[in-house]
Amino acid sequence: MKGKPAWESDNQEKAVAAVQQIYDEGVLKVIAIQAIASGARGAAVRKICDENFLKEIALKDYDGAVRQMALKNIADNVFLSELAMNDNDSDENTREEAANKITDEGLLKKIVLNCSNTSVRFYTVQRITDEAFLKEIVLKDLDKLVREAAQSTINAISKEQNSWSIQTSDGSTYYSQKKDSLFVANEILKKLSSIPLQTYYLVDTPDGTLGRDINGFFTEAPIKTTNLKINNPDGKTESVQSQSLIGFGDMNKNQSSVAYQKINGQYAKLILMMKCGQCDYESPIETVAGDMERQCYYCGTNNKTHRGVIHVYTSEGVVDV
Ligand SMILES: [Zn+2]
Repeated sequence: MKGKPAWESDNQEKAVAAVQQIYDEGVLKVIAIQAIASGARGAAVRKICDENFLKEIALKDYDGAVRQMALKNIADNVFLSELAMNDNDSDENTREEAANKITDEGLLKKIVLNCSNTSVRFYTVQRITDEAFLKEIVLKDLDKLVREAAQSTINAISKEQNSWSIQTSDGSTYYSQKKDSLFVANEILKKLSSIPLQTYYLVDTPDGTLGRDINGFFTEAPIKTTNLKINNPDGKTESVQSQSLIGFGDMNKNQSSVAYQKINGQYAKLILMMKCGQCDYESPIETVAGDMERQCYYCGTNNKTHRGVIHVYTSEGVVDV
């Protein structure tokens, strides 16, 4: 047994510790398939980004916890919905985890209509925001628990809608409310769907005001980047590297809107979703070209991130955003 790599050990702790020192994706893939200790396979899977490889693991590993770990880095909504609806190959937790990761409301509806597993329908229906669809489920789902979950989701949505105060001016409608953190503001704003033109949602927090319109997120004044109020403070004290910085909504329109506001001398920052290197939460942050450090709205960890200059072509010429 001499010379055997430590990750091959059947001692979970020893094998997991060994995997934590390995960064080569090729080696991690071998471990993800061959390690005896399920913890070691899971630890390897956690560090792998190759979505096609992760899909194989999500379908084939015989340990549910490893399959669920693979789902963490899979964004393919169609794959996730197929897994959520599949009764044969997956245990209940994996199906629920897959359904939980789906962001496409059309696919969530498909699961609620077609999945034969009650518990998956029960959790999925609560993530739907379309009231007309929910009313249909209240009337026709075969399971009482699912019907009740659809009704309580409708109640929660109308309660949320009632908490907005509404103002109109010049043909625009402004919905606003106060919440105690950027995390809560994001949770409310990201769930809004089918926002009409000239309709603006604003959530005021002690750390600044976050807004949402038809194109995506916006701010009208700087939001705080340090000492944020955190609802779930389990962050790290040292900075981490953010996992990604990606767009939300219609990025072309967001970029040109920022460019035109700059031309008009107004405050405007491009908002991007920063995926926390510590907890995976995606915070909509104000960005500038170059290096930035921003706190995660969920766990409070400081994330180092970066974006390049974006040249936006406008009728007034090129504007750097
Ligand atoms: Zn975080």
